[in-house]
Amino acid sequence: MKNDPKISFAPNGLSPGLYVHVPFCKTKCPYCDFYSIAGGDVAGWLDALSKEAALHRGLFGKCDTLYIGGGTPSLLGEGEVRELFELLTGSFDFSGEAEITIEANPDDVTAARLAAWRDLGINRVSLGVQSFDDAELRFMRRRHDAAQARAAAALISEAGFASVGLDLIYGFEGQSAASWERTMRSAVELVPAHLSCYQMTIEPATEFGKMLQAGTLEIPDEESQRRFFLQTSQFLCEHGYVHYEISNFARGEAHISRHNRKYWRHAPYLGLGPSAHSFDGRKRWWNVRSVEAYCRRLAGDESPIEDSETLSDDELAFETLCLGFRTRDGVPLETLGQYPGWQSALAALAGESLVTVKNGRAVPTLEGFCLADRLALAFAE
Ligand code: SF4
Repeated sequence: MKNDPKISFAPNGLSPGLYVHVPFCKTKCPYCDFYSIAGGDVAGWLDALSKEAALHRGLFGKCDTLYIGGGTPSLLGEGEVRELFELLTGSFDFSGEAEITIEANPDDVTAARLAAWRDLGINRVSLGVQSFDDAELRFMRRRHDAAQARAAAALISEAGFASVGLDLIYGFEGQSAASWERTMRSAVELVPAHLSCYQMTIEPATEFGKMLQAGTLEIPDEESQRRFFLQTSQFLCEHGYVHYEISNFARGEAHISRHNRKYWRHAPYLGLGPSAHSFDGRKRWWNVRSVEAYCRRLAGDESPIEDSETLSDDELAFETLCLGFRTRDGVPLETLGQYPGWQSALAALAGESLVTVKNGRAVPTLEGFCLADRLALAFAE
């Protein structure tokens, strides 16, 4: 294949994960910056994906996680998901105890689709609920309402998946602390194994980004966002969840997302599909964003990789700090010891109650979580 850089995984002792980007959505949500298009040629994308997967045949031993994200993977019909699994199993081995996750939107969830996912070995569903307030869902232009979200969560639980996760969003125009608490309360009543609570960030290229520039949309200020963040952590920890990463909560250690933990631990991962990113422990590369260009390149035996970067030792070390401070694991003191003046930097952060030292690691406090990148800079600058 032309333009195919020789990719070799140089894992840092951590097992690799596989990500597949499904680039289709029924409609585009105004705040979303993930690559997806409304409609599109699913058969053409599956053909191209099959070629891309074959490029990496034998690259991994066993993959212990597979994450099917997007876009909206739950839009795929049962036959299309089967085809996806056939092409993946032709090139990768994720048999055995692998964590296999699919992202789903509530309005796509049916008993037949869930049964097909279970048959294929999918054991984790991440449901994009976003809010349990119908007016907020209309503001975000989601296609479901709160009743559909509850019904979908119940169907997933009845179908016997090992883990159900709900995604929620906070920190947008018109949302109050009271409505956010109602949404979190509705979520915990469904007893999900995992909750991701993302602060709405508005990128300039999105529809909300343009409205923000035009002055027709507002976002809560930094202090309000901080209060939402603290409220989220307090409420969910009181309801039995472990706050293990800035935006992520698990109902006990067993339900921490194994796949996402790879990103925070700098483990290698391979991303397939338009716009997907990969990392081999030193080098990062990413595919072209457009589905059309992705399919055209693979049909013409060209690599879909748009560009790559190789991290220097310093860049790699700094990323390790930033990622570590995003999690409850923090950063080992041994790692901090590479930076001159680390002890006084640590003492200053501890003095501001942003970090504590536990079991030989510098661990962010809740306030420190809000400032993860600042914590990393305190050592690296
Ligand atoms: S938020 Fe989800 S459903 Fe909406 S456009 Fe983005 S990927 Fe698609």
